Amino acid sequence: MSSKALPILPGATLGILGGGQLGRMFTIAARTMGYRVMVLDPDPASPAGQMADVHVRAAYTDEAALRQLGEACAAVTTEFENVPAASLVTLAKTCRVSPGADAVAVVQDRSHEKSWLARHGFATAPFALVYSEGDLDEALAGTGTPALLKVARFGYDGKGQARVATREEARAAFREFGGQPCVLEGFVTLDCEVSVVLARNDAGACALFPVAENRHVDGILDVSIVPARVPDELAGRASAMAQAVADTLGYVGVMAVEFFVAGGELLVNEIAPRPHNSGHYTLDACVTDQFEQQVRVLAGLPLGDTRLMSPVVMVNILGERWQDGGPHWNALLAHSAIKLHLYGKDAARAGRKMGHFNVLDADPVAALDLAERMRSAL
Ligand code: AMP
Repeated sequence: MSSKALPILPGATLGILGGGQLGRMFTIAARTMGYRVMVLDPDPASPAGQMADVHVRAAYTDEAALRQLGEACAAVTTEFENVPAASLVTLAKTCRVSPGADAVAVVQDRSHEKSWLARHGFATAPFALVYSEGDLDEALAGTGTPALLKVARFGYDGKGQARVATREEARAAFREFGGQPCVLEGFVTLDCEVSVVLARNDAGACALFPVAENRHVDGILDVSIVPARVPDELAGRASAMAQAVADTLGYVGVMAVEFFVAGGELLVNEIAPRPHNSGHYTLDACVTDQFEQQVRVLAGLPLGDTRLMSPVVMVNILGERWQDGGPHWNALLAHSAIKLHLYGKDAARAGRKMGHFNVLDADPVAALDLAERMRSAL
């Protein structure tokens, strides 16, 4: 990381690699605080590009674009894990970069991530690395069946994953994925899923957001419930484990750790080196939200207060809602304690994250009940 004078104050330019919804919410937070924002994303309709002071439309590996970013920005961050580590290294020569290339390289490949977790004593679902069809028999013997075959790179939201019950199914899935490196994971019977979003600064101090309880449908996050309906002791363990992951990685930035809860035990599912969908509740329910926190840690400002001000339920809005005449916004907007966030995406495809809403209520049961009703009414 370059040794620019910290903190970086409003008026300076901050950069972000990636212009999706996470980049958009970072951009809004940074501009609200008086920073200028430069977004690098090849997509001319990028949700973050619409909000930025400058949108550089180029590939993430484009040398000239990286130079432009590195010269204009006091600091650069990223909104996705598939950013080429080499681009972060290039940028780090001229400006502050967080998170660093080393941490991103660990988590952008499931096989590295799982091996790293196991090596450092973090519990995971049983897994085996699969590089060729010949590895599958031994892998299946290790994980048992059913199991999930997941591509090591570029899988997200349940894409690049197949549930397999037999060796024939595993072979067919491996071929379907083009024989690329995969991780085979034993299928875990889940009590529930939880996640922790945190920020860790250069001095190693951590600020943790409250634990979220997450429900997924078809591998995509559907609903987050906060406070999570789990014993305090388990929530405390999740927070401690998430912090230990960040400390062990020497991480600087905002990150999320997703957990499976199985038989009362916590298994690390995934690490995201960025703000996370399961932290969108913070936008309306916490003193500081995860995107302001991303700005703060990037700029070297003191970390913001992560206190929860109200119980909250976050509901994702996916592209399928646009079929049959589009979402019924009236029903949603009629409620005074529902906060709608849309990401400015034109093309509504099934499974595409178009927006989310947060339902706030002092009574968590009432918040969940209203969220469920609005989820159906949309
Ligand atoms: P992932 O993209 O790997 O986070 O998977 C998306 C979702 O699929 C998870 O949040 C779980 O709901 C489910 N899932 C993934 N892996 C497993 C597993 N090994 N056992 C049970 N459920 C899983």
